[in-house]
Amino acid sequence: MQSVKKMRKKILYIIVFLVGLFLPATILAEPPAKKFVVVIDAGHGAHDAGAVNRRLKIKEKDINLKTALKLGEMIEKNCPDVKVVYTRKKDVFVELHRRAQIANNAKADLFISIHTNSVAKGTVRGAETYTLGMARAEENLAVAKRENEVILLESNYQTTYKGFNPNSSESYIIFEFMQDANMSQSVSFAKKVQSQFRNNSKRIDKGVKQAGFLVLRETSMPSVLIELGFISTDDEAQYLISEKGSSSMAQSIYRAFVSYKNGRSNEHSPATPAVVEPEPEPEPEPSQPEVEKPATPAPATAPATQEAPVFKIQILTSDRPLKNGDARFKGLKNIENYKEGNIYKYTYAASTNYNEVLRKKKEITSKFKDCFIIAFRNGVKMDVNEAIRLYKTNKK
Ligand SMILES: [Zn+2]
Repeated sequence: MQSVKKMRKKILYIIVFLVGLFLPATILAEPPAKKFVVVIDAGHGAHDAGAVNRRLKIKEKDINLKTALKLGEMIEKNCPDVKVVYTRKKDVFVELHRRAQIANNAKADLFISIHTNSVAKGTVRGAETYTLGMARAEENLAVAKRENEVILLESNYQTTYKGFNPNSSESYIIFEFMQDANMSQSVSFAKKVQSQFRNNSKRIDKGVKQAGFLVLRETSMPSVLIELGFISTDDEAQYLISEKGSSSMAQSIYRAFVSYKNGRSNEHSPATPAVVEPEPEPEPEPSQPEVEKPATPAPATAPATQEAPVFKIQILTSDRPLKNGDARFKGLKNIENYKEGNIYKYTYAASTNYNEVLRKKKEITSKFKDCFIIAFRNGVKMDVNEAIRLYKTNKK
């Protein structure tokens, strides 16, 4: 039998050993990682009801808030490494610029604005997610106009938004140039949201779109505006206000959020435990902005003299050369081509004026759904984002 003294000594050794084992790890451990901050913005509130279904007496502001609170609760419950900030948690009026300010002040990593769509006539169904950009369709512009109109309820809107008129199409031209650094991340999150709406909530997927939303213009982090569905369509309104519907939509956004957050290559922040099932591969998104299209890597060595980048629209590729007037050009004239590997790539509308090329692209998008803009400098293909940046800088 061991004496008490011996046992004490043994215990002391064990303690010293254990301290020695863990102390260096404690000292060397990185400081606690900054929490990922997500701002959840329930659109409208109080006297600003948003869109209304008068037959059923359902208001957009209520659907938005219900979904926003459920989403926030799911994140708070399951993601200890995330801080959730709300622009409103109750039925109160919050000015549009104030919502963006809350996100900017919180140094948010992601801004999610939740809304519900409406049309004056007809029956439309489906969910869509917007990122900031130039609306390519009248329909998208109409959504932005309707959502921006809420600033008219603010007393000082002309000063606050520097003369922006939510109803004038001219006011929206500036959005053409708003392909900022957050664009690709915003689109990446938006695609995940839509994929979840489609696969998890079994809603009609109206896709990822761009339009000039003031609230997204004012934020300085990846930001999206979700239109959950159409309040003007009775069954959608009823679904969205129901417990089942709002829970499912919130869960879809939550799943997209976790997938987005864990997918960001940020080694310093711990990943949220995988509480979601694997997400199905997102399908290619036709309404993807051209800056998102995979461009071939830019040449490693830049030429000595830097000409202005030339933008072109790539319309199709072929593994053999095509003749002028080939049916696949669908009547377009002045087609150029370049070769990469064994592939001939055909382009249209070369110009150093990005804006003009973008406009031409819009003209031909109905014929060439997958066309996208590429850029060359000194005859060498370059990164299109870099080219757009140069174009914008030179314009100033
Ligand atoms: Zn709204």
